[in-house]
Amino acid sequence: MDIVTEKSIEKLINSVLDVSKYVFERKLVSGKAGNISGRIKVDNNNVIAITPTLMSLNRLSFNDIVLVDINGNNIDIDSFNNIKKDNKIIKNNNIKNNNGKPSSEVLMHTYIYKNRKDINGIVHTHSPYATGFSFSNKKLKRMEGFGKIEREFLKEIPYKKPGTIELAKHSSIAISDEDVLILKEHGVISVGKTIEEAGDLAEFVEETAKIQFVYNTLNNI
Ligand SMILES: [Zn+2]
Repeated sequence: MDIVTEKSIEKLINSVLDVSKYVFERKLVSGKAGNISGRIKVDNNNVIAITPTLMSLNRLSFNDIVLVDINGNNIDIDSFNNIKKDNKIIKNNNIKNNNGKPSSEVLMHTYIYKNRKDINGIVHTHSPYATGFSFSNKKLKRMEGFGKIEREFLKEIPYKKPGTIELAKHSSIAISDEDVLILKEHGVISVGKTIEEAGDLAEFVEETAKIQFVYNTLNNI
């Protein structure tokens, strides 16, 4: 594929919607917390579809998803026509507007995409067990199923204020050789080749935290 097509953008948005619903139903996010994005990358042309700020991931519809470039700026839908002339993007008549405000963590997503050319999906949750560990002095052990992650414990970074460029910088550097990152006193970032893979990993991290909570508890009885 050498152009970003109408169909591929639609498919990307629908994947963000599907995984948003999935992580909500699996109780990995609640209220208006959490954010999810996916990317299409053709040469140096990035289209990132990201969940909006201040909306529940359970109640999103097609036009709520915000399209941003690699710097986190909303993509001007009208410019799609111009870009089409360069054969980069074909205008999508189903995308009515793109005026929504992206997630407050949009820079965390775009910084990670800049550092990880190999991934196209990011899921950020405050899933309760894993986030509980992030507030404690206990580390989460890496368990079978984490694939290429080879450390004994999941990687962590110290607390940085949510929504800041500091969090974007630190998390994007730390996740350059990992697919999961624990944000101390905050939550979890999972990345994958696809949004679905990142969502599955987010669920697996939470499952891992539950198992470790149970055996830590039983061992102390
Ligand atoms: Zn967060």
